[in-house]
Amino acid sequence: PIQPADRMTGLPTQFFSKLVRRANEQAAKGRDVINLGQGNPDRPTPSHIVSALQEAVENPLYHRYPPFSGYPFLKEAVVNRYKEDYGVELDPEKEVAILFGGKTGLIEISQCLLNPGDVCLVPDPGYPDYWSGVALAGGRMEYMPLTANNAFLPDYEAIPPELADKAKLMFINYPNNPTGAVANADFYAKTVEFASKHGIAVASDFAYGAIGFDGQQPISFLQTPGAKEVGVEFYTLSKTYNMAGWRVGFALGNPDIVGLINLIQDHYYCSLFGGIQAAAAEALNGPQSCVTELQDMYQFRLDAVFNAMERVGWKANKPGGSFFCWLPVPSGHTSASFADLVLEQADVVVAPGIGFGEHGEGYVRLGLLAPEARLEEAILRIGRLGLFG
Ligand code: PLP
Repeated sequence: PIQPADRMTGLPTQFFSKLVRRANEQAAKGRDVINLGQGNPDRPTPSHIVSALQEAVENPLYHRYPPFSGYPFLKEAVVNRYKEDYGVELDPEKEVAILFGGKTGLIEISQCLLNPGDVCLVPDPGYPDYWSGVALAGGRMEYMPLTANNAFLPDYEAIPPELADKAKLMFINYPNNPTGAVANADFYAKTVEFASKHGIAVASDFAYGAIGFDGQQPISFLQTPGAKEVGVEFYTLSKTYNMAGWRVGFALGNPDIVGLINLIQDHYYCSLFGGIQAAAAEALNGPQSCVTELQDMYQFRLDAVFNAMERVGWKANKPGGSFFCWLPVPSGHTSASFADLVLEQADVVVAPGIGFGEHGEGYVRLGLLAPEARLEEAILRIGRLGLFG
């Protein structure tokens, strides 16, 4: 038999693939399943972006190998977008890496910075890809609990200084998956201070940067004075432009980290298909009304969910951003037992909080990933189980 390398044994199996399989099994029984478990945007990519790809496919230039680390026009496009949206200045040559979705960079940064045994601080609950990267690098994870009491922000004062001194890398993610929390300038300033004091590189995952609720406009970590000295931000087109299948993301900021990520990407991939890079540039340079429409859409969906929750007596705090609701499970249930019950008896898929870490226990994550009427139907079905109030 084939013997896998030790680094593979630390790799968790994809949590979402299990969810998808269970939802499919239920649907195969002929049930009308509403799948709100996975973070997969349900709307198509705006048509001007699709047209840009169609045009680019005809260009023989793009049939050849793309330049290592990508086309300069795409780097310019993301730099201009950051300047316009966040007032952040970036050097397109030294401070931008083009990625196959944010995901590859989030995994590669651990390989770039961690030696076996090095400590990485990760949020709990948190996005599971951070763990995979640390596992592949042979690093050691230490969890930063995110609790409702601290607005789902890590409490740096609670981290023992000896541990902080050992850490080489940390992940933060706002708007947050799974809790929906949003960070403010004060938190980012504290992050820069903590990271500089202890010599920790910061990876800020800004995948949901475009989605804020009830008038909140999420800010970028790179807006913080000193941010570029300590870290990078991961930015992706997946959610902002409904382009999850296109696999386009960026690492932006600290030139040393960006250089390392570009180096590793050069070895693995060379770069993305040029036609995709052309379409990605169109997304960033073209009309941004599609982003405003997307923000409005998620706001309507969120309101529909919370109105329905009120009707069934399910009490929860509203998220500040992302497209997730982080909902407490009724008493007597664990996150997994509740998610199982909801799938078996209401044909609704939600993600059990425990899948995001120990501190995710007691919650389920519900994605705003179906039209309003379906979301409302999902909550009413769960309500009919009679577990609330
Ligand atoms: N970060 C977070 C918190 C996410 O939820 C996701 C996708 O679900 C990603 C990063 C990865 O995005 P992508 O690889 O599509 O850019």
